Amino acid sequence: MSSERQGIHVRCGGRSGAGSNPLRRLPSVERVLRAGPGALAVSRFGQRLATNAVRLVIEGLRPALVAGDMATPEVTTIAAEALALLERQDVRSARRVFNLTGTVLHTNLGRAVLAETAVEAAITTMRQSVALEYDVATGERGERDDLVRGLIRELTGAEDAIVVNNNAAAVLIALNTLSAGKDTIVSRGELIEIGGSFRLPDIMARAGVSLVEVGTTNRTHLHDYATAIAERAGVLMKVHTSNYVIQGFTASVGIHDLAGLARTHRLPLIYDLGSGTLVDLGAYGLRPEPTVPAALRAGADLVTFSGDKLLGGPQAGVIAGRRELVEQISRNPLKRVLRLDKVRLAMLAATLKLYRNPDELPETLPTLRHFLREAADIMAQATRLAPAIRAATGPQFEVSVVECSSEIGSGALPLQTLRSAGISIRPAAGRRAGRLLESLSAALRRLPVPVIGHLSEGALVLDCRCLDDEPGLVAVLPHLSITPAAAHTRSVGGDAP
Ligand SMILES: *Cc1c(COP(=O)(O)O)cnc(C)c1O
Repeated sequence: MSSERQGIHVRCGGRSGAGSNPLRRLPSVERVLRAGPGALAVSRFGQRLATNAVRLVIEGLRPALVAGDMATPEVTTIAAEALALLERQDVRSARRVFNLTGTVLHTNLGRAVLAETAVEAAITTMRQSVALEYDVATGERGERDDLVRGLIRELTGAEDAIVVNNNAAAVLIALNTLSAGKDTIVSRGELIEIGGSFRLPDIMARAGVSLVEVGTTNRTHLHDYATAIAERAGVLMKVHTSNYVIQGFTASVGIHDLAGLARTHRLPLIYDLGSGTLVDLGAYGLRPEPTVPAALRAGADLVTFSGDKLLGGPQAGVIAGRRELVEQISRNPLKRVLRLDKVRLAMLAATLKLYRNPDELPETLPTLRHFLREAADIMAQATRLAPAIRAATGPQFEVSVVECSSEIGSGALPLQTLRSAGISIRPAAGRRAGRLLESLSAALRRLPVPVIGHLSEGALVLDCRCLDDEPGLVAVLPHLSITPAAAHTRSVGGDAP
């Protein structure tokens, strides 16, 4: 009844003179859904959710319109608000994005893209029951890490190995097992922070070890370690300063010399390699990184490294080295807390298997393929894409193909830059250029598959190095709708390792 009365009221209002009832000027839901952001809302969230959102926005406008506090908004404004509402309410599931940041192992974008065999292994493992902690030959209980133990031993020369949630966990459990209540001796030049959440001193505190810093930021000598070794000494630790380089008047002690000292004092030597590569990157023309086999050969008792950095696998932390130490660590109750699930174990095993055939790695391992992509090949791709991007961004922007340089990312090889190419999108007019650039970044992020570039000298650069799905990018571009920058645009790019 009341709705009927309201309907009559609206009609009467309409008849009594143009503009006297502002509700009549509100567009229909259908019209809003046809406007740019409305259509985008339908394509991204479906008809039902988009319709509901538009209704909600229109409902929300009524009181202010009736009170005469505001003018009727444009159709696109209403549509944009509905889209923004849906975005805010969207469950923050990990959405696929195009990583055109130029950072191959971008921590914020999920680090390594997995090899096809790893993806297949994950799917198989998810669909079926698997012999995870079960020895099929004997029918007895087995160990889950056996899925990767043999491979890691074979590829690194380690006596034994276990895997945990990530490298931070590997460091935590290794120190907690071998040095709780005792001193852990580390050079001041190696007390790293990897992104805000991994600070070596904090991890050490949680592991229950006392940090004993030796040397200075730029120079640490063997005798610094030697004089710090006291009754309470638990382990000697070396940390690969993976995300920075100390240059100039520097000195650090190599693993070989530290190993000698550790042996003399019967202390375990732990080497946190961070990225931990299994192959000599120098052989592929990249800057060499210390490899896991070399670190073990040089005398480290244990090495720890990540699964999803240079290794190119899933998130994991590997601890490899002397059998008795690895066994001790696997008996720590924290192992249960930090263990890997069957899916990641399967992905890690599949990734490691690829290293048995290093000649094929540049093809089989996406991470290495992305590192090694030739600048000319990337340039050709950027050139192919430029017209579609020019068409999508319109006359407000100048679009050009540029040379640029990519980074490895994840704090690995900080000095290594890779010659690359991309598409530079620059506001055509100088005035309000900053705002326009923000609107552009936001619009690219609103695409059905968000496109993430990086800002460089007043332009948004889309580095094509990691673009495997070129048709996919071309397909989303027509959805680009550049509206004035929303209140809370975030900046793009910038790698937090
Ligand atoms: C990245 C890194 C870590 C942390 O590894 P995650 O796998 O991200 O937990 C620890 N130590 C070093 C030296 C690193 O480079």
